[in-house]
This record gives sequence, structure tokens and C-alpha cells, in this order.
Amino acid sequence: MPLPPLTGHLETRHRLAQAVRGKCLPQVLLFTGQTGIGKQRLALWLAQLILCERGGEEPCGSCRACHLVDGLSHADLHWFAPIARPKAGDPDKQVDEAAEALAAIMEERRKQPLYTPADGMASHSIATVRLIQRRASLTSVEGGPRVFIIGEADRLVPQESSPEAANAMLKLLEEPPQGALFVLTTLDPRRVLPTIRSRAAPIRLNRLADEEVRSFLRQHEPRWSPEKIEERVALAAGSIGLALGQGEETGKAYRSAEQLLAAVVEGRGPALEHALSQVAYSARGEFAAMLDALADTLGEAARGTMGQPVRRSVPQPLLRHRSPAPLLQAMEKVAEAREAAAGNVNPQILLAVLGEELAEVL
Ligand SMILES: [Zn+2]
Repeated sequence: MPLPPLTGHLETRHRLAQAVRGKCLPQVLLFTGQTGIGKQRLALWLAQLILCERGGEEPCGSCRACHLVDGLSHADLHWFAPIARPKAGDPDKQVDEAAEALAAIMEERRKQPLYTPADGMASHSIATVRLIQRRASLTSVEGGPRVFIIGEADRLVPQESSPEAANAMLKLLEEPPQGALFVLTTLDPRRVLPTIRSRAAPIRLNRLADEEVRSFLRQHEPRWSPEKIEERVALAAGSIGLALGQGEETGKAYRSAEQLLAAVVEGRGPALEHALSQVAYSARGEFAAMLDALADTLGEAARGTMGQPVRRSVPQPLLRHRSPAPLLQAMEKVAEAREAAAGNVNPQILLAVLGEELAEVL
């Protein structure tokens, strides 16, 4: 199945196309914006524009290169999605394992291009970083430009876990090979490692217009009733991903995070104890997703304390802080728990410790 057409982001497309034509497109870009609005789809559009044999304001859609990108089979397009951490002991075998896992994901996306978000525990591990390096060191197959898309770049391994791989990645982004474009995407730039963020040109994508979400749903879900479509458009807040229901898990994570924060701000006591014992995390992915939602909610609250508009529901007492400092401190605690969650620590224990820590700073 070909990729669904890109919806919206007309102004950004125009700016990107101008930069491509003017040969002034930065070699490392960071697309940011809420979940399900098409960040990776826009990255694929840009790849198609650059690889297209005709060259214009939009990819022509009919040349050989355009067809190959549409089928996710262009040899100079490398798309990296978060994957489960490889199990092999030998580093080289880990890289092979990562390559196989990615190939399997791409095979699935060829069949179903409207993919669901990666599991909360999936990441760009050291093996993926080595795979990126390995591919970046090769020459172009078609003799033209090459495009590397790294989706959910906030899941790139932190430096401490492998300084060698992390440094190599930084070097790659600092001096990308000639003719190579790197497009990283993330929900929230604050979650991307600062060393990586500082090397990328940020491009913020806005939510889609309701009309854009509506017309996408009409086209792709022809069996949905007009009432169902309207209901989804209203819930989606400008996100096709959410409208399609891929965001149900995400919604659950945000609700748990909000409940936990509400209990935390009430202080240590029965409410907090209750909240901490309430949620039994059987799946690590679910726990990690809750931590991500927690960090995002705290980030929104921090924006709120600085007088910026808050884009999602935040427990009101969090906004009483006069400066974002306590909220940023809380975000650091969550980031530490997120890292520990990737190891073998029991989620329940992590949550109990985190709850105490948050109650202290908030
Ligand atoms: Zn073309």
C-alpha cells in the first residue's frame, strides 16, 4: 500500500521546498509537535521531494524515485523507528538484530502505512546508533542524496550508557556526510538530549485544522458514519493519529499521570499512598508511557507558570508555582525514573520512590 497523502502543514512544506530549491536546507532537522499530526509523514514527504527526479514545489509522485519512496523501498531512504533492545551479547550481532527488527517494522509499514506508535519501552539503542553510523558511512546507492529519518528521537540512548556510540552519533550530526539529510522527530524537544538538540535546526509543526482531520477521515474511513467522524474530530484536537484511535493508549497514560500528580500535590498522606498502590503496572511499556505523559504534563505546567498557554489538562495546583523551577526539578526526577525503568527495577518500587520525590519538590 502506498503512503497516505500528507495532510496539512502547507506553510512548512512551502518553506522546506524553498530551502531545497535554494540549496540552503540545513542537513540536520528536528521536527517537533504533538502526537499524530504527521511529523514522520512530513519527513517522508521531504525525502520524496529531495529524491524526486523532477524537482518542484512538491514531489511529482510519478517518477521512479517517488514511487520507491511511496513504497518505502528507496535504497537511499533510511527510516529508523524505536525497537526493542537487541538481546545478542556480541555488539556486531546486536547491530544485525537491530537491522532485522527494523526491516520487519518497515515490511509491516509497507502493508499498513498508518502504523501505531512504538511500544513505550522501544528505543534507539546503541545497536541502532551503530547501524545508523554504518549506513551513513556507505555511499549513495542511486548516486544522489540520502535521507535518514529518526522517529521519536527522544528515545536515543543517553550518553552515559555508551559514550562511544553517543559521541559518534554527535559527530555524525555535527558533520553529516555530504549529500546526507537527517530528519529527527519528537513530541517534545525538551526530551531530546541537549547535545543532539543543539545540532539540529528546529521546525515546529502545529496541530492540523479540524477540516483537515475531517477530510482525512472521510477518505480513509469510508465506513464511518458522519456522526462518528464528527465525534472523532472533536476528540482529536488536530491530530489524525488520535482521531484514528491510535492514541487510546496515550490517553490512558495521561489520565494515570494526571491522577498521580493530583495526589502528589495533596502531599504525603493517604491520597498519595492510595494513588501509588492503585496502579499495578504489569507491562513495562505501559509504565514507561505513563512516565512520558508525566514528564509532558509537568512540562506543560512549567509553560503555564511562565505565562505561556497550556496545551493540555494540568492539575490546577501545579500552576500555583511562581517559577518553573520546581516543575523542572520534578521533570528531572521523572527522567531518572524513566532511565531506571529501562533496567530491571520493579515499576511499583520506582513509582513509590518517585511519588515521594515529587511530593518533596512540588
Ligand atoms: Zn518524482
